[in-house]
Amino acid sequence: MTPLMQQYQAIKNKYPQEILFFRLGDFYEMFYDDAKTASRVLGITLTSRFKDEKTVPMAGVPYHSATTYINRLLKTGFRVAICEQTEPADAGKELVDRSVIRVITPGTVLEDNILNSRAPNFLCALTVGDTIGLSWIDLSTGEFKAQEFPNNINRLIDELRRINPAECLVPEYLADQKPEILTALKNGLSATFTSANDWTFEYTNAYKTLLEHFHTSNLAGFGCEGLKSGIASAGAIMQYLHHTQPSHNLQPGTTKLEIMHGALKYITKLERYTADNRLYLDRTTQVSLELLNTISSQRYSTTNMEETGYGSLFWVLDKTQSGMGARLLRDWLLSPLTDISRIKQRQQGVGVFVQDMTRRKDLQKELKNCVDIERVTAKIGSGRANPRDMLALRKTLQRIPLIKSRLVLQDKTYDIIKDIFTRLDPLEPLQKIIATALVDDPPLEITEGGFIRDGYNPELDKLRSMCREGMDFIARFQAEEIKRTGINSLKVGYNQVFGYYIEITNVHQTKIPANYTRKQTLKNAERYITPELKDYETQVLHARERSQKMEYEIFLKVRQGAEKYIVQLQNIASAIAQLDCLLSLAQVAAENNYCAPVVDDSLVIKIIEGRHPVLERILEEKFIPNDILLDNEQQRIIILTGPNMAGKSTYIRQVALIVLMAQMGGFVPAREAVIGVVDRIFTRVGASDELTRGASTFMVEMNETANILNNATTRSLIILDEIGRGTSTFDGVSIAWAVTEYIHDRLGSRTLFATHYHELTELSLILPAVKNYHIAVREWGEKIIFTRKIVSGGTDKSYGIHVARLAGLPQDTVKRARQILNQLEKQGFDLQGKPLLDGGAHKLKANELNQLALFSTLPHPVAEALKGLDVNALTPLQALEKLAEIKKLLDKESN
Ligand code: ADP
Ligand code: MG
Repeated sequence: MTPLMQQYQAIKNKYPQEILFFRLGDFYEMFYDDAKTASRVLGITLTSRFKDEKTVPMAGVPYHSATTYINRLLKTGFRVAICEQTEPADAGKELVDRSVIRVITPGTVLEDNILNSRAPNFLCALTVGDTIGLSWIDLSTGEFKAQEFPNNINRLIDELRRINPAECLVPEYLADQKPEILTALKNGLSATFTSANDWTFEYTNAYKTLLEHFHTSNLAGFGCEGLKSGIASAGAIMQYLHHTQPSHNLQPGTTKLEIMHGALKYITKLERYTADNRLYLDRTTQVSLELLNTISSQRYSTTNMEETGYGSLFWVLDKTQSGMGARLLRDWLLSPLTDISRIKQRQQGVGVFVQDMTRRKDLQKELKNCVDIERVTAKIGSGRANPRDMLALRKTLQRIPLIKSRLVLQDKTYDIIKDIFTRLDPLEPLQKIIATALVDDPPLEITEGGFIRDGYNPELDKLRSMCREGMDFIARFQAEEIKRTGINSLKVGYNQVFGYYIEITNVHQTKIPANYTRKQTLKNAERYITPELKDYETQVLHARERSQKMEYEIFLKVRQGAEKYIVQLQNIASAIAQLDCLLSLAQVAAENNYCAPVVDDSLVIKIIEGRHPVLERILEEKFIPNDILLDNEQQRIIILTGPNMAGKSTYIRQVALIVLMAQMGGFVPAREAVIGVVDRIFTRVGASDELTRGASTFMVEMNETANILNNATTRSLIILDEIGRGTSTFDGVSIAWAVTEYIHDRLGSRTLFATHYHELTELSLILPAVKNYHIAVREWGEKIIFTRKIVSGGTDKSYGIHVARLAGLPQDTVKRARQILNQLEKQGFDLQGKPLLDGGAHKLKANELNQLALFSTLPHPVAEALKGLDVNALTPLQALEKLAEIKKLLDKESN
């Protein structure tokens, strides 16, 4: 084996799981099985090395276009280890040092052209014990969070779906001992799951790793002291980063790497996340309210990097100008607030920019030109920022005074604006560091030089002038040689192999001076060198090389200087993101005529002329607004009936969306709204509207209903769309009936229940806070016209056949259906909901079921008997006799 292949093998042994990209010159080469895999997945040619020796399969990709290939490997489920040359090739050694500088996995991607600039890319770690610990980090920004909650897998799944990680670290014991949990977690997530050693999740270890990283003596400053499994998961993330970023503790300049990835200095804090002051949205609700994607487009992809879908709420709300803003708005949307004062603060901020359009537009124009400070800061902190990044940062910082001046309000100011204003610091010292060192239009390549200003460093200036003189010399030399030899076509050229040479065509071969040494023969010409030419060449090349190296070193120092500002930069980035979100919500509010909702701690939801924020934007016809009033005492549960296609689902979702938008701190599509803060929104959406895979739809439906009944509180909002549809009519009606009773009597949650079971309207007769509404339709001969207006009262017709006709069922079929319907309405059904066409003895009309239910609230005979007793007038013996009588009544009933 050659020394090179020995080196390869030693490195490969350390990264058996990864595809090893082995840097050779301008290529990353892969060998053996890696080469075969890469050739198959990437469609690149499989060649071989050492044709004479035993052949080694080999495949390569050019260094400059590597990210495209890396991306494709990641998407196919592979991990890529990047092995670089860690010393310059000209060190004179036969074999240059090489080592792996990064392992790229879906959760540790940092490449701009793989990442989506408007979405976060989370790496997540979780551990399941008495409590569940869950942490997540966006390595491209340094956002790092941890939380801990009682063992509840459902809650864990909800959180994971919200975070939507690209990669999820789980301890090995989970796969070994609780594979069923792992399967449940994976379902519906696009994340790659990676097992990590159990010890990395061990508390003491994890805690120590975190302290070492943050250089603190405890985690109290982050509010994380006292967490157990939360710290375990965060520590596991940090260990994993150490593994995947092997050069994490290198100082810039200590290696000769062109790219010095991997330092983790920009991870400056671990935030503790709690769900306490958040409007909790479980996974079903996230999906069915179509927050980020519409249900019809919801396909979970293997990466997290797709643009957000048309027709989602985010699609309506996102008018952010920067990636920082877009990522934060996503967070606001998936994790709205319950803290009324914070909601009010955001609302005030939005209000300012709704009213003042000029101010809004000016600010948005500024933000559009801001670089993604969050990601540039991460690049600075990990040694990946290039001169152009630094320049973009400087230009953005230069804009800050202007942004601040537009945040000064004449009459009064609001907390949130004041806070943003204070955090926006133009960081003049940093601007100066960058401006004095770097030219205004630096090249992309960090190794070629040309980005440090003249006059910044005297030594560099000297080298540069030597270089320039050398170049002048070549020009002069050529002119002199032409004169001396009389060969007009003589020219001085340069190539990698021979350096500078003199080229003379064959016709002039007789005029060659004696001091020329022949170096190369071409078809029509010969190439020569002279000692004088070689001397100058050495000087020029040397000077150029030294100046390039020097520039690079100077740049590293500048970047190191910028590292001192990481925390401030992160603070500025977060202020800009916030401002961007407020502006976005304001723009949407202004353009679509929203109103500022009153958010208070009542249990009311009152919306006047509410609209569906998405449908009103995409419907061709005019959207018809509707009101709603839920108050705790009189009207807490609304049973909404109406034919198919009338607009029931739209209406109940619109209420949920308005509540959510209000608690994000934004304005809402209505003329007027009062929202008593909601702690959770639950949704159960009809089977026909939903994607279900595997489990029977009815089972899924009942699971979700159980989840609602077990977790809803008086503060919750419940949206039920057609529950009980997955089973027979009578089962369905009975379950729906019992569920409504439970919500009414035990939970007291505000509830909207859309159903085509008009039997349920009778609930309003017995439950005081249940009210009926329906969507009015007008009949026009055989046709029906949808008015889209909600009116009080129930309906008793389902109009299913009308809809069938609208949908284009053949006329004869429609006619026949009508006949059968008439027949059925006359004859009734049996208990399974099967029609009794024989009019038999067991016939039970559909609405008799309601009477059964009504019976249960009729006075019981025993109660009646007791009511009639005058206890004071009874002797003990009479009392005993009465008791026996009552017992007999009971026995009779149970027989
Ligand atoms: P249902 O749940 O009663 O079957 P949907 O809520 O699904 O009906 O509404 C069916 C269609 O009716 C929607 O896709 C939309 O095109 C239209 N629609 C619903 N509500 C309205 C409204 N308020 N204004 C205008 N069109 C509406
Ligand atoms: Mg519907």
